[in-house]
Amino acid sequence: MRNVANALTVDIEEYFQVTAFNGGAPVVRWDDYESRVVPATEEVLSLLSWYETKATFFVVGWVAERHPALVKAIRNEGHEIACHGYAHREICEQTPESFREDVRRAKNILEDITGKCIRGYRAPTFSVTDGTLWSLDILIEEGFQYDSSIFPIRHDRYGIPDAERFPSVVSRGNGNGNGIWEFPMSTLRTMGMNLPFSGGGYLRLLPPSIVSWAIEKLNRQGQPAIIYVHPWEFDPGQPRVRSSFVTRFRHYHNLSQMKRKFEYLLARHKFTTVSQVLNGCAALAEPVLSTEDAESEFDPSGSSAWHVAAPRVPAGVVEANRSLNASMRR
Ligand SMILES: [Zn+2]
Repeated sequence: MRNVANALTVDIEEYFQVTAFNGGAPVVRWDDYESRVVPATEEVLSLLSWYETKATFFVVGWVAERHPALVKAIRNEGHEIACHGYAHREICEQTPESFREDVRRAKNILEDITGKCIRGYRAPTFSVTDGTLWSLDILIEEGFQYDSSIFPIRHDRYGIPDAERFPSVVSRGNGNGNGIWEFPMSTLRTMGMNLPFSGGGYLRLLPPSIVSWAIEKLNRQGQPAIIYVHPWEFDPGQPRVRSSFVTRFRHYHNLSQMKRKFEYLLARHKFTTVSQVLNGCAALAEPVLSTEDAESEFDPSGSSAWHVAAPRVPAGVVEANRSLNASMRR
């Protein structure tokens, strides 16, 4: 199933900005830490270049402000730049007002650097949950066209276990046509549960052959997978931040294996940007993503060689989100 286009995503943040570390690395002290995001991201970029693969980079505004040349370099290599908030704060820690301020600030910084419209958002620690669905309304109002933050699993820190598992339009408002594309994190459905496999600690924990098998399983269903990685996962020599045993395990486990596992997947599957995968979905429903300035995110000639997966669209636009939308209107 090499011809199914999956989404590859990289969350650009420093190793000390991980939200589980907030007790050990408060925002006011971030400038005191050694910055390692540039060389770690350059390693990811060189791997993507070697395998001729494009990806979406969700960039933290605080990082973009300090490393605009890095953002430009990512963009100049034809990748998509998207938003990972300004201060990498979980949405549940914010009010609607401070969330709006945070995403607007990050979006403006990224648009100033790239000169391009920023369409996509990913919440720190997948913090779009049942309690923070209001954030989707703000994303729509702030001009975002897609979100990729919902994890349809049970977890102690995030997740909406009964959320739709595949890309689709989430309707918001009272049927006034407002909506936003959601590309949830990939899961395997088995024994009545959704199991995560496609990024971060899960990707580092599992043998790459299992992750590859899971991607193929989704692709055989006509669905795209989405992979997510972080530059600090390619940096086994990063300074250690004081934290609990669970946090240390989640953050540091198998860092030395990440490059090998990532290459295993790059060599076996077709990946591209989130916008390009969603444009394939949107083409089967109605165009949702703007094609303005989309030369690198959406290349019709490049995509014609692929089967872009068709996740239950157009029927899915209404049907597949029924349970999620119902929970949103509560
Ligand atoms: Zn993050």
